[in-house]
Amino acid sequence: MAKSVTEISRGLAAGKFSSVEVTQDYLARIAEFNPSLNCFISVTDELALAQARQADDRRAGGEADALTGVPLAHKDLFCTDGVRTSCASRILDNFIAPYDAKVIENFKSAGAVMLGKTNMDEFAMGSSNENSHYGCVANPWNTAHVPGGSSGGSAAAVAAGLAPGASGTDTGGSIRQPAAFCGVTGIKPTYGRVSRYGMIAFASSLDQGGPFARSAEDCALLLRTMAGFDRRDSTCSEQAVPDYPASIGRGVEGLKIGLPVEYFAEGLDSKLAAVIETAVDELRRLGAEIQDISLPNTGLSIPTYYVVAMAECSSNLSRFDGVRFGYRCEDPVDLEDLYKRSRGEGFGAEVKRRILIGTYALSAGYYDAYYLKAQQLRRMIKDDFQKAFSSVDLILGPTTPGVAFRIGAKTDDPVSMYLQDIYTISLNLAGLPGMSLPVGFVDGLPVGMQLIGNYFDEAGLLNAAHSYQQVTDWHLQTPELKV
Ligand code: GLN
Repeated sequence: MAKSVTEISRGLAAGKFSSVEVTQDYLARIAEFNPSLNCFISVTDELALAQARQADDRRAGGEADALTGVPLAHKDLFCTDGVRTSCASRILDNFIAPYDAKVIENFKSAGAVMLGKTNMDEFAMGSSNENSHYGCVANPWNTAHVPGGSSGGSAAAVAAGLAPGASGTDTGGSIRQPAAFCGVTGIKPTYGRVSRYGMIAFASSLDQGGPFARSAEDCALLLRTMAGFDRRDSTCSEQAVPDYPASIGRGVEGLKIGLPVEYFAEGLDSKLAAVIETAVDELRRLGAEIQDISLPNTGLSIPTYYVVAMAECSSNLSRFDGVRFGYRCEDPVDLEDLYKRSRGEGFGAEVKRRILIGTYALSAGYYDAYYLKAQQLRRMIKDDFQKAFSSVDLILGPTTPGVAFRIGAKTDDPVSMYLQDIYTISLNLAGLPGMSLPVGFVDGLPVGMQLIGNYFDEAGLLNAAHSYQQVTDWHLQTPELKV
């Protein structure tokens, strides 16, 4: 069976197989392995087959896009017209979206097929997928371990071959960290590159959608379709979308890559560090020039993020009130009771924790001390990157401090869970693009390397990752699955 988005696209174009056949293959794998992995909240079999038939007709009519007929999975926070969009929350368990997110619209007009909606941390809050109303996703490499979060279902689905590509969102690392934990490739674009219209909001100034796939080449294909201006998202960029697949064969000869000393310091697992160093040597052999750089305010990123993200989520989530969307408590005695019990029963513990902290940080008298202060620190973090990019083209480091941890290992310690995002969060605060690609294993679990680019240099990231993937085969490894 063809495994990558690129192979499927080529096979369809060459008439080697039909979209209906490929879609049936994936649906069969989902039926076999999803019960143990729990990657999907909803599987849309009938819709997928109807879309596949349409795609085959479109190809027969000679009007195909590269993605026409390619089956994909979507994180369950992208609104999908007529299909349940739960955000992995009890409060939206019964919510059928009445329209498509821009990202979904784009995939639909390209003729891609939707296999289903993937599991995630509730409202994208988490680093392990343990905060889902529908239960945790199992890491396909070792099912006792987490897949990462919040887009864990999408990452695990690609790793397990239940979909060749999938969408995700990244507010503080939710594409890159699960990509690293599951051994797949994922890219978080520049803030504003992909429309947030119809993407259920967590922290609006940080959220950004992006793709997961096995390789940078596949991500380039998917991102070309996801990205682009949309007037319904006022922060969406008008910059033209480059032809990413056409810009990835340039090699890395002479490319200046900076290693932040702060990313290779205390807290980084030593075996994981050794794997990253081997990957750096590979890039050096390919002609990249490696140098040390400093991002001195790295240590401020987690506290800054947890003020900004929680403040914004407390405001965004106020719309879930039991009146307009989703879950409503039984027999409310009055309006206040309806609000309190619908929200109290509908939201999970982590979401409530964040709404409480965010509301506190935004309250009169504390706003200046927390939110305003956090915005000032955010500027300092951004300035660190701008300074670094005056001497290097890309920045490289680990995606996570360690490999995927065991399910349950960190659930009682939110701070230790929050520290997972130490290398990923600062990019969201600065609005920069970043990606994670697999570069080896520690104790049988995948290691992800992070590449960080300057604003709108997604092509530069994809090109460097593709160069590395041309001479290594970590991205081709697949886990052995048990039913
Ligand atoms: N792990 C981070 C959090 O819990 C980031 C989540 C995300 O990127 N959506 O907020």
